[in-house]
Amino acid sequence: MALFDSLNLNEKKEKKENGTPTEHIQVLIIGSGPAGYTAGIYSARAGLKPVLYQGMQSGGQLMETTEVENFPGYPEGITGPVLMEDLQKQAERFGTDIRWGAITSVDFSKKPYLATIDDEKTVSADAVIIATGASAKYLGLESEQRLKGGGVSACATCDGFFYREKVVAVVGGGDTAAEEALYLSTLAKKVYLIVRKPEMRASKIMQKRVLSNEKIEVLFEHNTVEVIGDNVVNAVKLVKRKGETDEKIYQIPIDGFFLAIGHKPNSDIFKEYLKTDEVGYILTEGKTSKTNVPGVFACGDVQDSSYRQAVTAAGSGCMAALDSERYLSEMEFENKK
Ligand code: NDP
Repeated sequence: MALFDSLNLNEKKEKKENGTPTEHIQVLIIGSGPAGYTAGIYSARAGLKPVLYQGMQSGGQLMETTEVENFPGYPEGITGPVLMEDLQKQAERFGTDIRWGAITSVDFSKKPYLATIDDEKTVSADAVIIATGASAKYLGLESEQRLKGGGVSACATCDGFFYREKVVAVVGGGDTAAEEALYLSTLAKKVYLIVRKPEMRASKIMQKRVLSNEKIEVLFEHNTVEVIGDNVVNAVKLVKRKGETDEKIYQIPIDGFFLAIGHKPNSDIFKEYLKTDEVGYILTEGKTSKTNVPGVFACGDVQDSSYRQAVTAAGSGCMAALDSERYLSEMEFENKK
């Protein structure tokens, strides 16, 4: 799912320059997942008049999930879209100015910072909170896209619960795939792990756990050809390749199909200014949301490769708002001197 697909625009050969700012914003929040909205709630309550640009998909990754049962405060669970609507309303209630539009380029080289929206309008900001999330990678099959929400998922922790005593398949050979397969094995009757190579990339300990789990069957050297089902998943078509010519195509009945082939943090347009790890996750200082550029903060999945939960994203959105509030008061104090 692509929360901020348009952020990949910086991969374009020609870099679009930011124009003259037409508006000045105290706190600019980029992204509308749990991190962005929570940053909005806190900064609006602090009187910072935040402006939040929602990005290509308002509400972020949770708009694609069905039931969310692990967000604290909802004993009966809540659907992803309703949770996001509630968070949006809560942010608006305190005065967050929520707007359509995706930030397509930024200039953090000098203050005030600049951000261009949809390659058209440019705004300046004293503080910027980046909450652009990460997008799960998909295989790119038509059937996989069509059955999203109908048995195709990229989050076992979110959706695994619905597969109690069912048969599921997980694609991927890394630590995420291993972790998801192990998690699903506590719920499902059977878990197939579809690995494209003859070996897994996951850490040795995770591989050992997977291979010794009786409920998990690892299908090495397998690729997915198609996810089968009209409205819900009922099988997967696989190809087993060995060498150039030897291949076998067959189907296995399944109820759920989980992608675990990695995530891509939506940080491309910031990379010119911000330090990231090798995958692209924005690096933050210690236990704070501070990036290497003073006044630019990052929260949620764009800076979190390890937890990636709605509640942890919301928590880090709160941290970014508090960090930006402190930064702005220090800036005000310095300016008065
Ligand atoms: P990785 O990039 O490590 O692994 C992705 C896996 O998906 C690889 O096995 C890769 O295959 C496979 N893959 C990629 N594209 C395709 C495709 N088109 N078709 C089939 N298979 C595909 O991503 P992870 O999300 O697993 O991990 C990201 C990072 O987070 C890693 O550093 C990992 O160690 C870490 N992590 C740590 C955890 C922990 O410590 N508990 C838990 C989860 C993640 P191939 O090997 O052939 O390239």
